[in-house]
Amino acid sequence: MDKNFLHLSRVSDLYRPVAERITDFREVERRLSPEEIARQVSRCMHCGIPFCHGSGCPLGNLIPDIHEQVRRGNLQNAWNLLASTSPMPEFTARVCPALCEGSCTAQLVSESVMIRQIEKYVVESAFAHHWVQPPRPRCENGRSIAIVGSGPAGLTAAIRLRQAGCRVTVFEQRPLPGGLLRYGIPAFKLDRAVIDRRIELLKDAGIVFRCDTTIGRDISREFLLRTHDAVLLATGTPSPRDLAVENRSLPGIEFALDFLNGTTSAAGKNVVIIGGGDTGADCVGMANRQGASNITQIEIMPEPPRERSFSTPWPQWPYLRRTSSSHQEGAIRRWGVQTVRFLERNGTVGAVEILPVDWEFSPNGRPLHFTPRIGEKEILAADLVLLAMGFLKPESIEAVPPLFVVGDAANGPSLVVRAMADAIRISQKVQQFLEV
Ligand SMILES: Cc1cc2nc3c(=O)[nH]c(=O)nc-3n(C[C@H](O)[C@H](O)[C@H](O)COP(=O)(O)OP(=O)(O)OC[C@H]3O[C@@H](n4cnc5c(N)ncnc54)[C@H](O)[C@@H]3O)c2cc1C
Repeated sequence: MDKNFLHLSRVSDLYRPVAERITDFREVERRLSPEEIARQVSRCMHCGIPFCHGSGCPLGNLIPDIHEQVRRGNLQNAWNLLASTSPMPEFTARVCPALCEGSCTAQLVSESVMIRQIEKYVVESAFAHHWVQPPRPRCENGRSIAIVGSGPAGLTAAIRLRQAGCRVTVFEQRPLPGGLLRYGIPAFKLDRAVIDRRIELLKDAGIVFRCDTTIGRDISREFLLRTHDAVLLATGTPSPRDLAVENRSLPGIEFALDFLNGTTSAAGKNVVIIGGGDTGADCVGMANRQGASNITQIEIMPEPPRERSFSTPWPQWPYLRRTSSSHQEGAIRRWGVQTVRFLERNGTVGAVEILPVDWEFSPNGRPLHFTPRIGEKEILAADLVLLAMGFLKPESIEAVPPLFVVGDAANGPSLVVRAMADAIRISQKVQQFLEV
């Protein structure tokens, strides 16, 4: 067993310098050099029971085996192993929170292995060597599939069903395919050229994209069911969670996703972001790049612990305070504050009234109830308020074959990697149903 995890650290300067990166929208994360990768891969201890693969990664990526091939310099073997479970690793290698790293055994005595960065190295090497091929079938089976929605779930299902020999058409209401990969996750985390590169491969394999087409408006679902052997709804979670407080309708209060898609600029504004999660963090990064005067991100939940909470012991995904690359670029972060109402100034939002809250915790450290500290109200100046409080799970659709529902549309808001894993599972069900 390699013991390098004991005396080698993770790479700490993973991101481009803040002063440089906030002037552009290019990916903030730099690529590790082959030498850095060789050192990092040597930190994998090849556990007898690799929790990273077994319980961490929803796709079941063969992580220790991939690391072993990288360590031996067999990058093509590493790629073949990665591609055997992961349909589009260039996306997870950039945006996945790396659930695998949360369950890495090295973390018990040191820091987890840089699994996501190693994945990025493997997939980018594969693209550079032209090992990534369009998902062409060995033979056609004559069956036709309609997929509604081109996010990671729809694209994964398209790949798997095309490989199985089906004719696949993907319908997308937006001008370009990609779902939240393109119209949610900011370009400074995922370069749009990476999405375009994958879409070209799918088109080469014969997958047809019909963008600017809304199912339910331009074409009915019934028509798709009549004209295809199976229909998959991969429509995501379109409804953001709203905040029903006084003056919610004032101009200047926007949903985070609209802001991320360029509806308003934060230039020169006092920005208050309501919601302490990843979408809120993306808004911090975007507002800084647009030249906001100052940015405050508030969250009603209590501040998480700096270290893994004992409510989530290893190998579970740790509940702890996370600092994203966007937070490093500058923002005030506040926890345990409730939004009471918005205040008007010259016909638009001018401030947010907030109250601190006290939390009660369960015996294992989970936040349970809160009590507002009435009388301690505070006013935050705000010319732009961004609501980043997550998305509502869509009403469940009765999915009786030949109709299937997949990804966030089926399971509620989640992660790219989970949408992909679900699409693999549902594609297998489609194949069983069609007997192909
Ligand atoms: C701002 C933001 C940042 C995120 N960052 C991360 C991250 O860093 N890492 C991570 O793992 N996850 C992240 N997520 C979550 C992740 O993006 C989603 O879990 C994932 O994209 C879900 O995939 P999906 O294919 O199910 O749905 P989506 O990606 O939402 O795709 C659904 C697609 O269906 C289309 N559609 C909907 N209705 C119709 C219709 N009637 N007709 C035609 N097309 C339709 C939509 O336009 C959309 O393109 C983020 C989410 C947001 C909002």
